[in-house]
Amino acid sequence: LDFKHRKPKWFKVPMPGGPSYRELTTRIKDDNLHTVCQEAACPNIGECWERGTATFMILGDTCTRRCGFCHVKTGKPTWNDPLEPARVARQVARMGLRHAVITSVDRDDLPDKGAHAFVGVIRQIRRQAPRCKVEVLTPDFQGLDMPLAKVIAERPDVFNHNVEVAPRLYPIARRGSTWQRSLRVLETAKDLGGDEVVTKSGLMVGLGESFEEMVDALGQLRERGVQVITIGQYLRPTERHLPIVRYWHPDEFDALAAAGMEMGFDHVAAGPLVRSSYHADEHVPQPEPG
Ligand code: SF4
Ligand code: SF4
Repeated sequence: LDFKHRKPKWFKVPMPGGPSYRELTTRIKDDNLHTVCQEAACPNIGECWERGTATFMILGDTCTRRCGFCHVKTGKPTWNDPLEPARVARQVARMGLRHAVITSVDRDDLPDKGAHAFVGVIRQIRRQAPRCKVEVLTPDFQGLDMPLAKVIAERPDVFNHNVEVAPRLYPIARRGSTWQRSLRVLETAKDLGGDEVVTKSGLMVGLGESFEEMVDALGQLRERGVQVITIGQYLRPTERHLPIVRYWHPDEFDALAAAGMEMGFDHVAAGPLVRSSYHADEHVPQPEPG
């Protein structure tokens, strides 16, 4: 199967179009901000935005790596916008978000790999939208301890770093990244953040991994103290990207989630449409109303 084939019937999603959805789209564009929700054409956009979750992409649109499944542009980034953190936070406040996810392209070109921008956004959101939970979804910072430590020192509510695919698939799907390095990032984040920072990771299926390989991957993540996992179906962005080897059935996602819960994760969200930030607000305690 590939993207030209019809999607299975469990891929029906509501169309975005509610009033908050339309308003948000205009505001984000006017402010020169970027959301993964829009740019990855995420199938959950209507639902997420209506419930107060959105994922912002900072540090530009050009990534220094080239993952075989990813639609983000690759090349030499030029983005340098010191006011971006303040604008993201203002938007978070205006939108009344309850849970903001902040992510970026990989910026291997920058001395601190982009950590300062995550620090800036966390600080600005704490100031401008103090009730909003902040989840950072970061690159591996090339495995450097200092950038990671700087970000964890800001105490994001959730530290998320996606391993993306089963370990065996790294050489074909994640050139420039390694499974072990990503595991170490997650382990260090837990060591530094303790109980104050929830650690989270995400994987995709459909690229040729077996059920057993996924269970093994989950086991390794649990051993590093990871608390929350998301698992979704890979959808091929274009014909130039890795083909979909197969669509996993919802029952298989359920079985994987059950296996994960048995290992002791706090939360495993697994399903065809699950994305890294899908229902992200459910993974951390919410403030009391009023
Ligand atoms: Fe945006 Fe994530 Fe929701 Fe998709 S799942 S709409 S990327 S917040
Ligand atoms: Fe895409 Fe992230 Fe890979 Fe860059 S590092 S190509 S943004 S998945």
